[in-house]
Order: sequence, then C-alpha cells, then structure tokens
Amino acid sequence: MTPRTPREIIAGLADTYHCGDCRSDPPELREIAPEIFVLQIGHADGCPVLVGAVSDRADLLRAIDRAS
Ligand SMILES: [Zn+2]
Repeated sequence: MTPRTPREIIAGLADTYHCGDCRSDPPELREIAPEIFVLQIGHADGCPVLVGAVSDRADLLRAIDRAS
C-alpha cells in the first residue's frame, strides 16, 4: 500500500463526513499553508453541533473510519 499524503487523508475525511444531526453541506477543504488544512463544515442554522450543544466527535470518528 502506498503511503498517503496529508492532503489525501484529509480529502478522504472531507468526502465522508456528514453531520448526524443536520446532514451538513459537503465540507470545504482549504490549504491555508503548505500541508496545513482547514475543513469548513456547513451545518444548518440551528444544528445542535453548530451551537455546541452536542459534540461532533462521533461523526468525525465515523468519517475517519470510512476514509481509512
Ligand atoms: Zn450539523
């Protein structure tokens, strides 16, 4: 298996992340500096993740698992 680049790993995460509460827009991946990435997730207005009422940890872990 060929080692993956940081961009490929985070792109896989962006492709597989979905908010379990609002089914968010597909995340936008930006590289703000060489190999420093920002993943902008478009939650719906009022999403409990967006307002911090619930954690998105489980959604992130599922996305990481699917991207692996
Ligand atoms: Zn959401």
